[in-house]
Amino acid sequence: MYERYWKEMGEKTTLVISGWQSISYFSDLTNLCWFLEPSFADSVLRLHKLVGNAVTQDRHIVVGTGSTQLFQAALYALCPPNGSEPMSVVSAAPYYSSYPLMTDFLKSGLYKWGGDAHRFSKDNNNNNRRPYIEIVTSPNNPDGSTRRAVVNRIDGILVHDLAYYWPQYTPITSPADHDLMLFTVSKSTGHAGTRIGWALVKDKEVAKKMTKFIELNTIGVSKDSQLRAAKILQAVADSCDRGGVGSPEEGQATFFEYSHNLMAKRWNQLRAAVEKSQLFNLPEFPCGFCKFSAQSFQSQPAFAWLKCEGEMEDCESLLRRWRILSRGGKHFGDTPKYVRISMLPRDQIFHLFTHRLSTIQS
Ligand code: PMP
Repeated sequence: MYERYWKEMGEKTTLVISGWQSISYFSDLTNLCWFLEPSFADSVLRLHKLVGNAVTQDRHIVVGTGSTQLFQAALYALCPPNGSEPMSVVSAAPYYSSYPLMTDFLKSGLYKWGGDAHRFSKDNNNNNRRPYIEIVTSPNNPDGSTRRAVVNRIDGILVHDLAYYWPQYTPITSPADHDLMLFTVSKSTGHAGTRIGWALVKDKEVAKKMTKFIELNTIGVSKDSQLRAAKILQAVADSCDRGGVGSPEEGQATFFEYSHNLMAKRWNQLRAAVEKSQLFNLPEFPCGFCKFSAQSFQSQPAFAWLKCEGEMEDCESLLRRWRILSRGGKHFGDTPKYVRISMLPRDQIFHLFTHRLSTIQS
């Protein structure tokens, strides 16, 4: 979806790295996160300030190979090294399907997947207060809902995955202000293949332990990728900074205007197809005022959480028969009546998808 915008930007985001540049393991030995490229850190701070989606004061930035590496670094850093039992990692269903897989992959003694946070909360009365980490994903993957923690225990540890808290997907109502927040270029600018994410971390010791995890895991994070991500984030910030160097010409959209409008168009197209077919249902989202764009709108998530109405039990198989690929609800801790569909492919694929969906008959 983002490819066309970046093509139109042409040379603005071209980066040349000569053979002699960025050779060392080290980026900034004065920083707690010693492999963090200063120019990448600057671009992160500038963009958050412009968009107003996260508090960056008194936070440590830890860069990761995607927010996927930072998720694992966070689990490692947040668990006491000598707890009597593994910490339960929970998230409210439907949750991002990779969380359980990433949590249990290496059979860590520090933590284990604890499933749906709603159920964990019910099972954990005062006599059975197991330690836990809750992952709060807002807007949520797969259903696009705006979320808060659900377990709400005073000793609870939270990780906020804010991959989709950007103004093309949802109104920016206030700067997120949590202990540990994860972001990624995969969803903010579309550069999933660059594999760059960042964490904003309040606690110094937690940030240090996350840095240690990445040091032992990959001895840092690709400098080439950080420099490319910095260039892209600066281009996004330039496009929003009307009147500044690199701001768009008269009548040209900023990055967030462009991507917001495209998402709005796609959601209208999808809702029209669903209405035509009459076999499916989509979530509705409340209207919110976006302080960044100074307009009210409903969330328009990166994924559609589609429900098959009526007798049909397995929505994924049904759609496959109509040559639509989706991911069934079971992967997300929900029923097979639901599927998740990406709203971010290239135009041609998206048009084909909505056309096929609209022709499905009972
Ligand atoms: N968190 C959520 C909620 C996601 O949807 C994704 C990507 N699907 C990720 C994290 C992973 O992002 P990255 O590419 O930065 O590893």
